[in-house]
Amino acid sequence: MKVAVRSDIGRVRTNNEDAFLADSDRGLFIVADGMGGIIGGEVASGLAVKAVSEYLLDHLGANAGTEDISTALMVALVEANRQIRERTDRQTELQGMGTTIILALVQGDTASLAHVGDSRAYLVRGDAIRQLTEDHSVVAQIVKAGTITGDEARSHKLKHVLSQALGSSPSLTPGLRTIRLRRGDSIMLCTDGVTDMVEDVELASIVRTCAENVERACEEIVARANENGGRDNITVVILHRD
Ligand code: CA
Repeated sequence: MKVAVRSDIGRVRTNNEDAFLADSDRGLFIVADGMGGIIGGEVASGLAVKAVSEYLLDHLGANAGTEDISTALMVALVEANRQIRERTDRQTELQGMGTTIILALVQGDTASLAHVGDSRAYLVRGDAIRQLTEDHSVVAQIVKAGTITGDEARSHKLKHVLSQALGSSPSLTPGLRTIRLRRGDSIMLCTDGVTDMVEDVELASIVRTCAENVERACEEIVARANENGGRDNITVVILHRD
């Protein structure tokens, strides 16, 4: 599998509150988008990536089945949520911090995904791009209810209001999903600094034309997000199954 990752501050923000992990040896890939206060966002996203990675290292054996993996991913997110909330209780200046997270654990041809918030996973297969995660956002719920369309959602004034984030509430309902990868498939994990700035069709076209060079695909996506305004931090991980 080919793997590449890029994280960029963008053109407007003064710090990068996105965090990521790309550990090819363990097949573990994580993207998190922190929020809250002056330093809270960075603390929350960094803490989430570390907590999830450590939990899975301690609790997930090499021969775990799909069901064990889904359970472990769920508990890892609960543990990350607990650690962020505990830190906020100890350090009041961090109050209100939280983070999204999307993670993929890839073993052989199976990718197990888990997420909280509006950081996304996409599958690029052939000519098609498919969003694998459902945003935990107020606007995504309104779209689902049929009140507005996906296009209207892109410019909706509430589009950044999350219905769930790590650190925001004692309870969590993470999105979980397992997919079987075919040869030539690419999976992309990214923050909203990518998806707000670059349309899905354009993302698909970049990933497809650079399938053999995932480093270049990541660079092009960051460049395009910046050309289109770079209004937020930009983080993208691409996994390509040869
Ligand atoms: Ca963001």
